[in-house]
Amino acid sequence: MTDKQILKSIKALARGECANYDRGNCLLTDRRCHLVNPNYESIHDGAIDCDYFLECVLPADWNLNDLVAYALWYDEADEDILPHGMKRCEICQHPFVPTHPRQKYCKGCAEGANRRKTRERMYEQRHGL
Ligand SMILES: [Zn+2]
Repeated sequence: MTDKQILKSIKALARGECANYDRGNCLLTDRRCHLVNPNYESIHDGAIDCDYFLECVLPADWNLNDLVAYALWYDEADEDILPHGMKRCEICQHPFVPTHPRQKYCKGCAEGANRRKTRERMYEQRHGL
């Protein structure tokens, strides 16, 4: 499911299931319901910024709850903030702990890169380059 589809399902859920939903408004805050507000185009920028919905309405739909949790988690994991001492591999983008400061690749990718380099060297030697 794309973010757009998730958002659509969330809006439908709010309209149908939220006890505080009243014709586009929220009975709790007396404001426009966050979830159906077209100003929020994605779940990452405030569309589901409603505690009541997250705690009481969304969990009723297990499937959607999972999708939202995953989408939000993925969004966070995507940010370039790494724990202290870690780097992001330039090949596979996974965080790793470098064993020396100029290390650019994680262990798995570094081994692959070395093998490739060795192969290239052998090729060059064989062809007298
Ligand atoms: Zn890697």
